Amino acid sequence: MKIKIVKTSSPKEKPDPSTLGFGKIFTDHMFIMDYDVDKGWHDARIVPFGYLSIHPASTCLHYGSEIFEGLKAYRRADGKVQLFRPLENIKRMNNSAERLCLPQIPEDVALEVLTTFVELEQDWTPSAPGTSLYLRPFMIGNDETLGVHAVHHATYMIIASPVGSYYKEGINPVRIMIEDQDVRAVRGGTGYAKCGGNYAASNRAGQRAEEKGYSQVLWLDGVERKYIEEVGAMNVMFKIKGKIVTPYLSGSILPGITRKSCIEVLKSEGYEVEERLLSVDELSQAMTDGTLEEAWGCGTAAVVSPIGELCYKQHRYIVNEGKIGPITQHLYDTLTGIQWGKIEDKFGWTMPLK
Ligand SMILES: *Cc1c(COP(=O)(O)O)cnc(C)c1O
Repeated sequence: MKIKIVKTSSPKEKPDPSTLGFGKIFTDHMFIMDYDVDKGWHDARIVPFGYLSIHPASTCLHYGSEIFEGLKAYRRADGKVQLFRPLENIKRMNNSAERLCLPQIPEDVALEVLTTFVELEQDWTPSAPGTSLYLRPFMIGNDETLGVHAVHHATYMIIASPVGSYYKEGINPVRIMIEDQDVRAVRGGTGYAKCGGNYAASNRAGQRAEEKGYSQVLWLDGVERKYIEEVGAMNVMFKIKGKIVTPYLSGSILPGITRKSCIEVLKSEGYEVEERLLSVDELSQAMTDGTLEEAWGCGTAAVVSPIGELCYKQHRYIVNEGKIGPITQHLYDTLTGIQWGKIEDKFGWTMPLK
């Protein structure tokens, strides 16, 4: 794919790493590529970062045709910048596109435009501990009509944002409320697709949990409100009676790359990992009889997020005395070790940039 590059004439100053939050500062450029049914993907270009001009009837503004991805570039001690399993994000984006009737991007093209863009912006990858360059590929349906039809025009973009360490004050376990009203997704719906609409549907429960002093909600399935699905916008794992248990990918659960990596690390070390239905009753029982040993969320932003307290129908349970457990800590150390190039990547998950 030919990529036209227009460089900014006014590069910004790189921010002080201590001021980085999440997704507030953006790099100098952005990647854009357009699609229409006749021409396919065309006009790939990297241009100075800036506002978009968009038709007020554009499909994405009315009917939620939007998907996105999230991955990071990490700076290693030797100065090189590397990606973590980028092809997994590309495959997942195409699965999301298929679900929302958005056009797919051939894997080799998607990888080429991603690496070309990140190589141009790689100086923005901070080097302070725990910091990284967050990459946000996304696609919108972009037809200029209020008619509801399959998408004929789409736009694919990548923006990048240097982000601070998720755990500036150390890894503190979070308090989680089990949500028994709202649901995030249903089987047959868009739960397995990474789309903005799932987030819009999640906001109310997240907000209510925060008002009650919890960080996030634990989602139950959308049909019976009986089985555990995810925690906030992360996958969730438990250690119960010595085994690792995580909900299987039923269709309403987002197939996280961190989830997959945790499972692969644990299995390679001989742990038993069960991907299965886990009911809230089984979890409550394990909390009551003390066989729930650890609980954690997993996702690109935090890697792992230990759960120190779970609340279900007014009952509060403390997990592992409110402290991070050994498996959670081990997964954090292993994945971050590979991502920042501090330990050997025996899985071949990292992709150094040129
Ligand atoms: C992105 C996301 C995850 C985590 O996926 P990773 O690939 O591990 O970052 C989990 N759940 C939801 C709802 C998500 O959007």
